Amino acid sequence: MTHHTGKSSHTHRTSPPGQYSKNALGAKAAPVTIMVPRTEALYLDDATLRTLTTEVLSSQSISSLSEEQKSLAKNVPAEDSTITMRQTIFYAQGGGQPSDTGAIGPVDQDPTFEVSLVRKTPDGQFLHFGKFLDATSSFVAGQPVMQKVNDSKRNYHSRLHTAGHIVGLAMQLLMPDKKKVKANHFPREASMEYEGLLYNEHKPVIQEKVDELVRLDLPILISWLEGVAQVGDGEGAEEGRTRIASIGGLDHNPCGGTHIARTSLVGSIVIRKISRQKGISRVSYDVSPGIEA
Ligand SMILES: [Zn+2]
Repeated sequence: MTHHTGKSSHTHRTSPPGQYSKNALGAKAAPVTIMVPRTEALYLDDATLRTLTTEVLSSQSISSLSEEQKSLAKNVPAEDSTITMRQTIFYAQGGGQPSDTGAIGPVDQDPTFEVSLVRKTPDGQFLHFGKFLDATSSFVAGQPVMQKVNDSKRNYHSRLHTAGHIVGLAMQLLMPDKKKVKANHFPREASMEYEGLLYNEHKPVIQEKVDELVRLDLPILISWLEGVAQVGDGEGAEEGRTRIASIGGLDHNPCGGTHIARTSLVGSIVIRKISRQKGISRVSYDVSPGIEA
């Protein structure tokens, strides 16, 4: 799986410039190292959650973020804000799967904040980028809020992502020697890449195997392996344990993405084309139907 975020073992950061602890006399002391809690990513254990009540940890402007955090917000308008919360059901972009979108608001009220992009920092914090619908509204630390994930987009992304696993399993069954080098589950560019050469004549063979795996309605199983594995963010690594996704127990892939429960729920998978570049072959695919309105 490709990953879009860096890998790091940092669990804390120093406070931002200008933020100092004060001693009893009010004099400035050295910057303190503050623990920043990792966001509990609840979708890892329950991908069906679409609403959640949790607590705001921070709400700040993008301009006040560290350079490292700002670098995660490319293409987000500079005047937007970022929210961190104790828990999240929002999938953060990574592992070849796009970010969820959705909304956040006070409990039992209409949402006041529109989430356009979620990214995970190397510290394990989830930054929810977006804008307040009304410029005068805000969140304060400790405030209970309700998260709402855009359901049709999540379902579509989960189907595209799971389809990648199904193509991967089909390839493993058909050509066990072919080594997977890359995966992309973004809409319109979804593909799996393999070392070596594949040709158009492979297309109907892969299509047939993929159709069979969808028809078999195999369950997608999630499990955790304890111990640190050599995988990157977005590839299942979570605080010394690794998340494994398996189709019907037939394969085992480290994976941090969201999946549908059974292969039949993918709809149908279309192997679009097979292309080659520098000894790497790309199997491009799509799912049908596309995103629901
Ligand atoms: Zn996966």
